[in-house]
Amino acid sequence: MPTHIPALAPNDLEIALQRIDMLAIDPAAKRQLKAMLKAASNPDTEKIETILKTLPKARQEEIQRIFDEIATRQQAQIDEANRRLLLLGLLTLGGLLTSYLLTTDQQALTAGQLFEQSKRVWLSAIQDEIDYVGVNARAQGPNGVDYDYLRQMCDDDAVSITATYNRDIERRINKLYEEFPNASKEFYIQSLRAWAEDRSGYKGIQIAANTEFKVREYAKRRFAEENYPVTTKWIFVGPAPTCEDCTTRFAAGIVDFQYTLDFPTPRHVACPHSYRPIRKPKNIDVSNLWVG
Ligand SMILES: [Zn+2]
Repeated sequence: MPTHIPALAPNDLEIALQRIDMLAIDPAAKRQLKAMLKAASNPDTEKIETILKTLPKARQEEIQRIFDEIATRQQAQIDEANRRLLLLGLLTLGGLLTSYLLTTDQQALTAGQLFEQSKRVWLSAIQDEIDYVGVNARAQGPNGVDYDYLRQMCDDDAVSITATYNRDIERRINKLYEEFPNASKEFYIQSLRAWAEDRSGYKGIQIAANTEFKVREYAKRRFAEENYPVTTKWIFVGPAPTCEDCTTRFAAGIVDFQYTLDFPTPRHVACPHSYRPIRKPKNIDVSNLWVG
């Protein structure tokens, strides 16, 4: 799966940790960045799970809950496909494919599920921002444009998740059928169930984490757009980059808000980077704070 987790030499890690110390961000964020960087630079642990473990406890639990939901959904999909296969009289390649390819109904279910997740992440992210500026208020929404934006994002993601799933299972079925053209239904069902179980583990967590990061970053941008002075300066933070895109964002140094809109985070799947104000914004109208 595509990740861009850096593997740093001990020397580089030391330098990167020192660099984080120099950032003008709050101590909690610093600790989090350092933990992410240390986890990411451990060559034995290079999966997205490693990054997740460095997130605050409440966030980990949230992602775990979402992950469980998505894994359950994927299990249900394969069970439904098995049921359809059992109903088919002929065990042809075409029959196998018809049984296991996801339909638009299932795509709509995925979109709905992602949207439920997005609403929870939205509230939690906006609440974190409210707490960061030190105002006693509760997060709301998503409303209006934000509701529409997140709804569209989930619909698009569901299309892409379905297409990926269908492509993967089609490959798997073709391979099985080529190798064992005369196998029994039970054999195909067992093989595909095992494949789906294995896949739902890493895919589930990847999808959950991806949605979490995307919604969280979007919520942070919206909060800043509504509440922070336009003169607020930003900096790209997180572990040392390993891709060209993120390297360019780090190199840009201190940027204005428009830059964060032009190059929004996360930059790609499993991108652990985000923008932070270089110092806590002042002159926020706390009595009129936008809270979602
Ligand atoms: Zn990145």
